[in-house]
Amino acid sequence: LFLTFEGGDGSGKSTQSALVTEWLTRQGRTVVHSREPGGTELGVELREIILHRRGYIAPRAEALLYAADRAQNIATVVRPALERGDIVIQDRYLDSSVAYQGAGRVLDPDEVREVSLWATERLLPDLTILLDLDIETGRARLDDARTRYDRLEAEAAEFHHRVREAYLALAEAEPERFLVLDATRPVAELAEAIRHRVSELLA
Ligand code: C5P
Repeated sequence: LFLTFEGGDGSGKSTQSALVTEWLTRQGRTVVHSREPGGTELGVELREIILHRRGYIAPRAEALLYAADRAQNIATVVRPALERGDIVIQDRYLDSSVAYQGAGRVLDPDEVREVSLWATERLLPDLTILLDLDIETGRARLDDARTRYDRLEAEAAEFHHRVREAYLALAEAEPERFLVLDATRPVAELAEAIRHRVSELLA
C-alpha cells in the first residue's frame, strides 16, 4: 500500500502522516515513512539546492531537480519497501510537482506529470490524502510554528492560490485516488477520517 499526503505549506501533512504511521505500526504493520524533497541521501542534497540556493533556478531546471529527487526516492526507498510488502507513507509526491512546478511555475501540468511518471516508472499511489487549506491559515500556522521557509516568504499569494486550485483540480480528476479533507478541522478528527479510509483499503 502506497499512501501519499499532499497540500500546501502548513496544511498538517507531517502531523497527519506521523499519526497514521504510528497507528499502523501499533497494529503490527511495517511502515516506511518517507518525504519529498529529501527522502534519500541524494535527496537531502537536492533539497538543499532547491530550497536554499540563493539565486534563480529556471522552472524547468526546478522541475527536473524535483524529478531527480523523486526518481532516487522511488528506486531506493519506495519500490524496495513495496516489494517487501511494507506500507509506504510519504509526504508529497508527483501531485506536488503538478501543483507547484506546473501550476505554480506555469509549466504545462501534463508535461510535468509525464516527467514525473518517467522518473518513477509510472508508480501511482493507492491513496492520496489532500489536506486542503487556504493560504492565509497556512501562513499563520507556519509563523506560529516559527517554521520559516525562505520560499514561502518569497512566493506571491497568487502562486499559492494557483497551487491550491491545481491540487483541487487533480483531486476532482481522480476522485478514486484522492481523499480531500478540510485541513482547518481538528487534528483528531482528520486523523480519524484518514484511519477510516485506510482501514477500508486494508480490509
Ligand atoms: O513539504 P515541505 O515543507 O518539506 O516542502 C518544502 C518546500 O518545497 C515547500 O515550501 C514547498 O512549497 C516546496 N515544494 C515545491 N515543489 C514540490 C515540493 C515542495 O515547490 N514539488
